[in-house]
Amino acid sequence: DLLRGDDSAFAESIWVSVFAIELVLYAVGTVFIIFMLVSERTVSAHRVAASMDPLTGVFNRRGFAEATGRIIEREASAGRPVTVMILDIDHFKSINDRFGHPAGDQILREFAATLTNTLRMTDLCGRIGGEEFMVVAPETTLEGANILAERIRAAVERSEITYKEQVVRLTVSVGFAVVAEDVQVTYDQLKHAAAAALGEAKATGRNRSMVRIVTGPKATGNSEPEIPQQVPPYAV
Ligand code: GH3
Ligand code: MG
Ligand code: MG
Repeated sequence: DLLRGDDSAFAESIWVSVFAIELVLYAVGTVFIIFMLVSERTVSAHRVAASMDPLTGVFNRRGFAEATGRIIEREASAGRPVTVMILDIDHFKSINDRFGHPAGDQILREFAATLTNTLRMTDLCGRIGGEEFMVVAPETTLEGANILAERIRAAVERSEITYKEQVVRLTVSVGFAVVAEDVQVTYDQLKHAAAAALGEAKATGRNRSMVRIVTGPKATGNSEPEIPQQVPPYAV
């Protein structure tokens, strides 16, 4: 009887130990999983922050290039029309000089809002420089791009931004590039064509939109597409 009593006490203490070890493992596992989830969230929050412009809430230069590069090449190689647009606020330096830098910042925020409100859900927009923005509009032909550019230009011209009871008016110049059907292009080629068009819009009086149509070899060819350039491209 004495021996049996010892046996059952021994068996019981083993089960208690097993249970205790299991509890410890469970706790360690839970802490590990929580740690992994939190660190993954932090990494993805940092990744999002690194691709957004904190002032306007649209993509920054890097985020925009990442988001659009592949879209453009996919659309162009599938023979679908794609438009790339560069928009540069006219005489923004003088707006800063007259109304102050905080007013300039407010204008940038409202400009970005006007832009995103004018675009479709499938269009992407980013701030690629101080007062320079870029738009990629998939499935947009020359005709559609013309309408879009003019709609943005007119909306900006109409908008009256009030900063500390002063009304600030502004205009924007737009350069855009469309791909002729079946032409294989890269993001950089379209960007350069749009920059060339923007240079022309600036040189010929601002507050206007200009287009470059990128023509060239068919998608099966392997030479560079032709980008007609009459004026030096606007530096972007
Ligand atoms: P243009 O019509 O030829 O485009 O003339 P512009 O004055 O707009 O062009 P310029 O490139 O000479 O000046 C751009 C100005 O944008 C200069 C800079 O002070 C201002 N800027 C750039 N980034 C910011 C910003 O984040 N906030 C403010 N408020 N101003 C900015
Ligand atoms: Mg500029
Ligand atoms: Mg400007």
